[in-house]
Formats: sequence, structure tokens, C-alpha cells
Amino acid sequence: GATIVWFRQDLRLEDNPALTAAAQRGAPVIPLFIRDETIPADEAMGAASHWWLHGSLAALAAGLETRYGQRLILRRGAPGEILEALAAETTADTVLWNRCYEPHAVTRDREIKAELKECGLAVESHNAALIAEPWEVRTGAGEPYKVFTPFWKAVRAQIVPPQPLPAPDALPCPATWPGSDALDDWALLPSRPDWAGGLREVWTPGENAARSRLHAFLRHRLDGYADARDLPGTHGTSRLSPHLHWGEIGPRQVWHATHAHTAAHGQAKTEKAAAKFLAEVGWREFSYHLLFNFPQIVRDNFRPEFDGYPWASDPAALARWQRGQTGYPIVDAGMRELWATGWMHNRVRMIVGSFLIKDLLIHWKEGERWFADTLVDADLASNCASWQWVAGSGADAAPYFRIFNPVSQAAKFDADGTYIRKWVPEIARLPDDFIAQPWAAPALVLKAADIELGNTYPRPIVDHAQARDRAMAGYREMRGEA
Ligand code: FAD
Repeated sequence: GATIVWFRQDLRLEDNPALTAAAQRGAPVIPLFIRDETIPADEAMGAASHWWLHGSLAALAAGLETRYGQRLILRRGAPGEILEALAAETTADTVLWNRCYEPHAVTRDREIKAELKECGLAVESHNAALIAEPWEVRTGAGEPYKVFTPFWKAVRAQIVPPQPLPAPDALPCPATWPGSDALDDWALLPSRPDWAGGLREVWTPGENAARSRLHAFLRHRLDGYADARDLPGTHGTSRLSPHLHWGEIGPRQVWHATHAHTAAHGQAKTEKAAAKFLAEVGWREFSYHLLFNFPQIVRDNFRPEFDGYPWASDPAALARWQRGQTGYPIVDAGMRELWATGWMHNRVRMIVGSFLIKDLLIHWKEGERWFADTLVDADLASNCASWQWVAGSGADAAPYFRIFNPVSQAAKFDADGTYIRKWVPEIARLPDDFIAQPWAAPALVLKAADIELGNTYPRPIVDHAQARDRAMAGYREMRGEA
């Protein structure tokens, strides 16, 4: 019987264990992607992810076609029903996939596996997405890790990631093709207004683009990574996050390519940068470890004491944050970069996160939702774990009282104002001293820069020093110290 390969967040041909296992069976292979219509709202895909998925599916279908003369079958609905129907239609006797770790996916896949087995099908799942699956490393007490450093140390000591698999040599086609939706009919791309122009300019979804990005990063940017990674005005990081999210490239490929590059160019500086870079990939692993072992982090504070924090409900402030109109240039630059390109630099994600939660007292969940809708790399594990990290409510979190000062953060990480000037052009003519705090500029300087505060650019939405005191008062109240 034929083999159905159910693609999910593994949209690649290389280093795809389920696909390789299917090829090894020798029987006809039916590559399938299902638009799952059973995903609960708080885990559902946002608009930028839909845009990415369209491009990624088109790239996967093209790869299957040119390499194997194969077709990617597209269906939408409830995955269990679709798989059963397709297996009956094609007389498939085996279904293979690579594992997902989101709470809904874990439950869904467990149920589907049982149902398909009951129908007499063989079902097998594989690991394509992680260096260490969430149950593979445990603390001395046999518990999941809650702290990154010992987690990553254990992974490096205990896990030897296997060499990435090449793309299969052949994938036999079925005698007749099962019916498929047309990708365009899924309407994943925005129609009107077409807000995706900036995304098209910056990103090319798909496995080939992911591979090029990794190799360009290793060649040109890895050496400088340890220093440049914190500077949003430079292109210092890999920008692999959306490719990793959709599995257009896997972390084992990243791991081995980085080690091979380091071995070939082995200077101490390269080695140090490589360790730093792989530790960031380790944060992704850690996020999945947390999500799988503590699935409540999607909704609830990991530290329940934060349930008692006196959050504000302030839709007007939330909207100004979302639109990049807070009057704090580094915050506005980040929010506008996100809106325009579907991505934001990590340092700035921390700054805008801290601002929303601590300066505006808005619950991290609101920020997490906005990011989930607008990021091309929106990822339930990394997004929830990171927002809880910023809020101080997470497992291995920044202490609550470490409240980012948006002016000194900008002075430190965007000292010459390159990043702010790019994304907040209406204040670009301010001298460096005032670029992160236009309200502090003398009237003459503002006039010379063509700025009228409150008109051409907003006055600050809050006074940071006062907001800081207010946030700390809330923190003391939460702890019963007020
Ligand atoms: P690089 O520095 O080149 O890192 C390489 C890879 O490591 C990344 O592609 C990513 O997969 C992983 N990585 C790096 N930093 C982190 C981190 N702190 N946590 C988890 N993985 C990391 N990342 C997402 O992929 N999806 C999200 O939805 C997401 N939401 C975030 C929300 C907040 C509030 C914050 C502070 C961070 C969030 N991050 C998220 C983490 C991080 O900002 C991005 O992964 C990173 O900016 C991606 O850029 P890069 O690929 O150039 O990173």
C-alpha cells in the first residue's frame, strides 16, 4: 500500500525523517498538507503566518514536482477525518509524520494515531524539529528543567544530534493523483488592503531560501555575531526564525553546518561566536521543553503569584503601542519594523515587551497575541516563553524589577540612532543626543529638525520614571507588601 506523508511544520525535503522513511518503504508516496480547522483560537495562526505558509507550501510543492515529479496534496478540515478518507481513497496502509509539540497538536496527534491504527493503518512519527525532544533531558531529580543554563548544558552533554539526512533519491508517485485543493483557493495571502509588500521585500519562504540564509550568515556574519547580535541597526543575526518555525530548515542542520564551518575556519573568535549562536538555538529548544512539559504557559502565568498583579485595561494605550505611536522612539521603531516586515530584532522585542507590561501595565498576553498575529516567525513555544520571560512571570525569567529604560537601552544598543532613524523617519533629523528622547530637546533643536511634538510625532504616552514607580507599586501589591 501507499504511504501518506503528512507535512506540518517540517516543510522541507532534506533532513526530513518522515519523508526519508516513506522513501525507504519503496511504495508510492502521497505528500499531504492539511489546513487544520480544529485549532483552538488561542493557538491559531496569525495573518503574517498565513502569508508565510502560502509561500512555503508553494516552495515545497515546486521542490516535490521538480525533484520527483510529485504533487503536494492540499486538503482542509479535521485532520483525522481527512487522513482516514485519503487512506481509503488511495489504499494507503501507512501514515508518517514528524512530531509537533503544541498542546493542541499533541492531543490531536495522539487521538489520530489511535484512530488510524484502529482502521488497520501503520502510523509512525519522527523528530525533525528539535535537537532534544522535550522528554529527552531531565534534572537529577527526574524533573523537566526550568532554568536554561543547566538545560542547555545537559543537552550538549547528553545529545549527539545525528548527521542531517539528504533529500531522498526517489519518491515513487501514485498511479492516480488524489484530489487536492488549489493553494490560491485557501486565500492565505492578504487581498485588500495588501499589507504584505514589506514582507515580500524582506523574505523568501522555502527550503532553498532557508539554506542560503544559513550559509550567508555563517560566511559573513557569524564571526561578528557575539557583538553585533544586540545591535538592531546592523544586520547581525541569522534571521532564520521563520524558516525554523516552519521547518524549512531544522536545528540539526543548523548545528552541523555551524560546527563544520567552525572546524574549517577554526579561530577562537569563530568558536566563541558559534557557541553563542547555538545557545540561541538552544533557547528555542528550551522554549519547546517548557511548552511541552508545562503546556499551561500558553494561557497562564508560570508563576501563579502574577495572577494577582493589578494589570490595567487600556485599549487606547494598547493601540498606540501596536501602531508605534508611544512617543518613545526605540519602542515605536520596533513596533513599526514588526508591522512593516513581520519581524523585530530580539533586543527590541525585549524593550517593547517591557514597555507594554511595565510602563503601560498591560498584560503580557495582549503583547503575545499581537506578536502571534504579526510576526512571520510567530511560534507558540518561543513567543509564550519569551513574553513570560519579559513579564517576570516565566520559568527562567528576568526579575520583575529589571525594568528596561527605553532611553538608556537605545543609547546603549542604537547609539548612533541608525535603527530609530530608519523606522521613525519623522524625527530622523534630530541629533544623536536627542534621537531617543525628542521631548528633552530644546525648542530650537526641535524646530531645526522640523518636529512639532504632539503633532508631527507624539509626546511620550507616559513618563518613564513615574511609570516605573507605578509598576513597582503594583509588584509590591501583588506580593502583599503594599
Ligand atoms: P538569531 O540570533 O540568529 O538566533 C538563531 C535562532 O535561535 C533563531 O532563529 C531562533 O529560532 C532561535 N532563538 C534566538 N533567540 C531566541 C529566544 N530568545 N527564544 C527562543 N528562540 C530563540 N522567536 C521566535 O522564533 N518566535 C516567536 O514568536 C518569538 N517571540 C518572541 C517574543 C518576545 C517578547 C521576545 C523577547 C522574543 C521572542 N522570540 C521569538 C525570540 C527571538 O527574538 C527571535 O527568535 C529572534 O529575534 C529571531 O531572529 P534571528 O533568527 O535572527 O535570531
